[in-house]
Amino acid sequence: MNPVPGSALPGAALERERPGLVTFVLAALRDLYGVPDWAPRRPPTDELVLTILSQHTSDLNAERAFNALVARFPGWDAVARAPVEAVASAIVGGGLAQQKAPRIQAALRQIHAERGDYALDFLGTMEPREARDWLTRLDGVGPKTASVVLLFCFGLPLMPVDTHVHRVTSRIGLIPPRTPAERAHDTALEVFPRERMYEAHVNLITHGRRTCSARNPACGRCPVAPRCRYVDPVAP
Ligand code: SF4
Repeated sequence: MNPVPGSALPGAALERERPGLVTFVLAALRDLYGVPDWAPRRPPTDELVLTILSQHTSDLNAERAFNALVARFPGWDAVARAPVEAVASAIVGGGLAQQKAPRIQAALRQIHAERGDYALDFLGTMEPREARDWLTRLDGVGPKTASVVLLFCFGLPLMPVDTHVHRVTSRIGLIPPRTPAERAHDTALEVFPRERMYEAHVNLITHGRRTCSARNPACGRCPVAPRCRYVDPVAP
């Protein structure tokens, strides 16, 4: 087993050099995990706040903090206008409350200043990268948070690159070695078909959790192994 991945190229170059790789990987993951159903989970502003709360903590903690926040305040306007200590105290169960409270308020205030309200539904009609650019202009909102909101709320074909997606795609060689996670958000869009972006995202995360773990990947039972450059640095 060699942990040094071989070369990999995005998009058309990847397809030229390793024909059919993307199709092969998506089919293997589909066989393992199925096709996830997409349905909007919650309003986009709620999703944005929840995703900020989920930074550097578990989904469970983030949900708990989100529920406490919406129970404490009657709406996003009240959150935006509240003393920062009150917001921090509401979300304390989610961790890093002192950083996340001002981040949430800054994002809400910027949305209101630009749009006159707190709704983000207009993003669903924009081109995916333009919508992502709009959101990443907000303080504390990076490409991962923006992509989560746009993929899960509107089904826009964007790839949130979390630690699992980054690790699995790097090991297989779907993205070039040592691509920083931030840049991988664009690389992934060249690699995966738009219409299968949600499926790719969900199944890569599931694969990272169940099979391709950080410390002890189960390559012996992984159907991607014949084409994975973590297993063979010159895999086709
Ligand atoms: S678990 Fe699969 S995808 Fe992960 S490194 Fe091993 S063969 Fe590659």
